[in-house]
Formats: sequence, structure tokens, C-alpha cells
Amino acid sequence: MFYHLIMRTDCNLSCSYCDRENFANPDEELYEYTNPQTTNYKIEDLKKQIKKEDYITFYGGEPLLALKKIKEIMDTVPCKGYMLQTNGILLNRIEKDYLERFHTILISIDGDAEATNRNRGKGVHEKIVKNISYIQENGFKGELIARITITRNSSLFSQVQWLLQNGFGNIHWQLDAMFYEDSPYDWYNQYNLELKKLLDFWVEEMKKGKVLRLYPFLALTDSLRKKEKTRLRCGAGFANYTITTNGKISPCPIMGSMKKYYCGELGSNIKEISVQSPCTECDIFEKCGGRCLYTNLTQHGGKEAYAALCQTIHFLITSIEEKLPEIENHIKDKSIKEKDFTYLKYNGVEIIP
Ligand code: SF4
Ligand code: SF4
Repeated sequence: MFYHLIMRTDCNLSCSYCDRENFANPDEELYEYTNPQTTNYKIEDLKKQIKKEDYITFYGGEPLLALKKIKEIMDTVPCKGYMLQTNGILLNRIEKDYLERFHTILISIDGDAEATNRNRGKGVHEKIVKNISYIQENGFKGELIARITITRNSSLFSQVQWLLQNGFGNIHWQLDAMFYEDSPYDWYNQYNLELKKLLDFWVEEMKKGKVLRLYPFLALTDSLRKKEKTRLRCGAGFANYTITTNGKISPCPIMGSMKKYYCGELGSNIKEISVQSPCTECDIFEKCGGRCLYTNLTQHGGKEAYAALCQTIHFLITSIEEKLPEIENHIKDKSIKEKDFTYLKYNGVEIIP
């Protein structure tokens, strides 16, 4: 099992995606508004919940605002791997002996300085880049995954190129889509064009023996090759759960305070929760898995917005399927290997952007 631990509900940045007034109207039935800012459950109770084969991801808000508590958990709650999802600003506060123990660090960066600072604040990019050097020089040997948020103003192709050319080997992107009521979707066609260009580049690189770790392509290709029937690819609600600051268990970090969908609490049995219509009737449900439980249950923006978003998923999957014969040929001629597509499932990467 994978667990996200909400270490703090607040953040030290004010990014344009999060700091919005129009997320949703207050809803007392749906949300718990009294969750404490920091964890108030006993570490002993967490220790009983976490098995040695589980993974823990420290999450927030910004989890590194609770670094002392993170270290305490790492010192007292054994598990298979510790992961961290962070904005990167405080990475330079983690000492070497803890950095050495992280399995994965997921860091929010939108590509170059212009794109990152426009969305996340002046000087943020420079600080992140400096801190990445710090962790690499101070014992972090795990997987560093850059997470880009793609908005209507982003160029997916050029921002991924910037990251690749600047030492980022593992990249995921997520669309800033349907998190709030009036989320615009007139930019999806442009995004699809960028996606196609990036996919062409990705397959072209295989001729040089490289399978670049662009997570949406990597994971989807792996499972489409194997004709795998998938559930929700982020694992929310069955393989991946979130422990809120008050010890309640929710299906995913974004749904941390959505009491209507709590699946249990520390020490209790945890129930599963799955996506519903329209995903369950979709002709590509077994390939897509449902993209996002939060979006499926809330459907902010309505059916039309949902259908527009799904059109990007159809496009992504069809485009990869068209490339499969070429990819198979690269495997057959030994330019690349099957194992180049392996990754740790449910590691905090959503797969379907
Ligand atoms: S394409 Fe859309 S409707 Fe179909 S399974 Fe994926 S998210 Fe659900
Ligand atoms: S994809 Fe959706 S359900 Fe899955 S972790 Fe992200 S917000 Fe939660």
C-alpha cells in the first residue's frame, strides 16, 4: 500500500494553480474545515497502520514545513520506501543522513525559469535548481521526478525539452484542468499538438537507444504493450490512500479534507472507492482507468468540460497505440529493452495527465 501523509495543510508559496478564490464554494457537507494545520495523531497509531511493505510519501501543503516531524516518522515508522512531494524551496534543510534514505523526491517545477516563476513566484526556479544540486551533492541517490503543471499558456514540448537538457531524467506533467468550476478548456487542441510533437521526439530517441522517462508515455506504453486492464492509474482509493492531519484516511491528497469520501481512519479497516459514470461506461475505461477520482466525483464544470478533457486522453492513448509497432521493432532490433519501461506503480505520478 502507498500512503500520502499530509504533514501540513499550509504552504510557503502561493502558486497560481492553488491560490485561487474560485476553487469551489464552501460546502459543509462535503468538506471538513476543522482539520488541524499539523498532524495531531500519535506516531504510535501511524506505526500500527504502516506495514513494512508499504511506502510513505510526505505531502502537504508543503511537507518540509514539518521537517522535524518527518524526521521523527523516518526514525520510528519503518516502511519499504520514503518519498517526498515538495515545492523544493526547503530541500536544503534536509541533512545528509535523511536525504540518503529517500526513495523518491517529486518536485514541482514547470520547466524553465520564465514558466516556473510566472506560476510559482519570483526567484522560485533559481532556488529549486540550487536545492537540487544540494540534494544530489549530499547523499540523495533516489529517483528525482520533475512535475510540470500544464496550463493554457504552457508549451509542453519546450518545457520538457528544457528539463531534459538540464539534467532532469524523470518527468511527469499534469493538466491544470477541472479543479474548479469555470476551468477553461479551449486550449486542449493546442496541448494535443504539443503532445504529438513530444511523442514523435520520444520514439525517435529510441533509435539512439534511449527510452526517456516521460511518465505518461512510459507507463502507458508499458501497459498497452502488455494489454493490461487497468484501474485508476494513480491508485487513489484502492492502492494509494492519504492520511490527513487528524488521522482520517481519504482516497487521495487533493481529497484530504473531503469528509464525504473518507475511507476510514488510523486503526480502522479502510474501504475502497472507485470512479463512477461516465468512466464506467467509457469504451476505453480499461486502458485509461478513469484518470482522476477527484475529477470524476466532483465533475466541476459539468459534462461538456469532462468530455473535452477525455478527448485529450483518447488522443494520448490512440497516438501511443499508433506508435506501438515502431516501438516493438526497436525492442526486437535491441535498440532498447523491455525493462526500460519499468517503474514503481503508484509512486505519486498520476500517469494520465
Ligand atoms: S477517457 Fe474519460 S470517461 Fe473514459 S475512462 Fe478516461 S476519464 Fe473516464
Ligand atoms: S489523479 Fe486525481 S484522484 Fe489521483 S491522486 Fe491525483 S487528484 Fe487524486
